Amino acid sequence: MTSLPDHDVAELADRFGTPLYLYDGDALRERYERLRERLHPGVDIFYSAKANPNVSVCALLHSLGAGLEISSLAELVTAERAGATGPDVIFLGPGKSTEELRACCERGVGTIVCESFAELAAVDELRPPATVKVMLRVNPESESAGSRLAMGGKPRQFGVDEEILRSSRDAVSALRHIRVTGFHAYLGTRILDATTIVRNTGTILELAESLAELLDIPLETVDIGGGWGVPYFDGEDDLDADAAIEGINAAVESFLDRNPATRVITELGRYLVGWAGRYIVRARYVKESKGEWFVIADGGTNHHMAAVGIGSFVKRNFPIRALAGQDSPADRVYTVTGPLCTPNDVVAKRVWLPEVHPGDLLEVARSGAYGPSASPVMFLSHGHPAEVLLLGGTAHLVRSRDTVEDLLRPQHLVPAELRAPATLPAH
Ligand SMILES: *Cc1c(COP(=O)(O)O)cnc(C)c1O
Repeated sequence: MTSLPDHDVAELADRFGTPLYLYDGDALRERYERLRERLHPGVDIFYSAKANPNVSVCALLHSLGAGLEISSLAELVTAERAGATGPDVIFLGPGKSTEELRACCERGVGTIVCESFAELAAVDELRPPATVKVMLRVNPESESAGSRLAMGGKPRQFGVDEEILRSSRDAVSALRHIRVTGFHAYLGTRILDATTIVRNTGTILELAESLAELLDIPLETVDIGGGWGVPYFDGEDDLDADAAIEGINAAVESFLDRNPATRVITELGRYLVGWAGRYIVRARYVKESKGEWFVIADGGTNHHMAAVGIGSFVKRNFPIRALAGQDSPADRVYTVTGPLCTPNDVVAKRVWLPEVHPGDLLEVARSGAYGPSASPVMFLSHGHPAEVLLLGGTAHLVRSRDTVEDLLRPQHLVPAELRAPATLPAH
């Protein structure tokens, strides 16, 4: 991540207020371009918008060449506003509504990834134009061992079981207005082991070839998933991206030798945006309780649920530091919490920091993915934080902080006379 001097962060915190998400667009561009340069040119990179659905983040990645992988009507409109249309958009997700499917057909989404036979039938009924490609998501038999959150080889709401698919030639050929022309599989998230990524890629490419033959469909597209991780916690090593890319390139090379006309797609969320974001909060109170020191900040897990350190019984900490006092030794142990009225609102537990004073800024690094959009921003009605994107030295406000009116506008007050009737009903 390109370095941003602390006094610049402090200036931005003053200008835009805290809590604040800062996204470094230049670092994001560097990361994307570095990946694009090294990855086999036959692999199209799609950005999984759910990792950070801010329209400017999506637009930046799209302008660099990434397609957008989306999963809701609002994400579809986000993609449109980000400039992505046609073959640059893939819509997937296990519970698409008819409205969403219709929007895909009418608004020129390039590919719909269907996750069940019922969904295939629903799309068939909509008679999409030929420009809309239909793929099937497979739940493969093989399990991905190195993933923190496995998504294959088990009963899942995602996709169609490989086993079922293997005996579904008739069902697939019975479709009247659409043709399945490819397969998608996604074997897990937060994968930090290159070998697992390479193995997954090989598995999916082989699976797609064998299913296409078995079901007698043209293999126009294979989406090999992604799920590349970012190390957050102690003891986690960064993904060896060079090794992953090398292995993927070799697998893709031999696949394309056999299937020269097939489009190969990889979809990445966290890996692209995770490093490029930081969550900035300001200490409100610093106090002692039974011998332990607490920093109570103006934002917490309501904006950064991932910092809770899920997936483990022991609380694990995201990288956190105090912006002031970098020159003083980190010789105090603090637990950093947010403003929520729940003991779980702990951003960092027992971390070493320099002495923290009320008003000091704290920064949680590697926070560009699954931030506010994956957090309970409505808890205690604090709302969404501000988001700022830095591009070439200029800071752009890309999402305004929710105002009280933003939070209350969608609520409807039952009229007073209905709450407390003037005359009690006769009985
Ligand atoms: C969430 C998701 C992604 C993105 O996952 P990351 O781990 O953030 O890269 C990609 N594909 C599918 C199907 C997903 O559900």
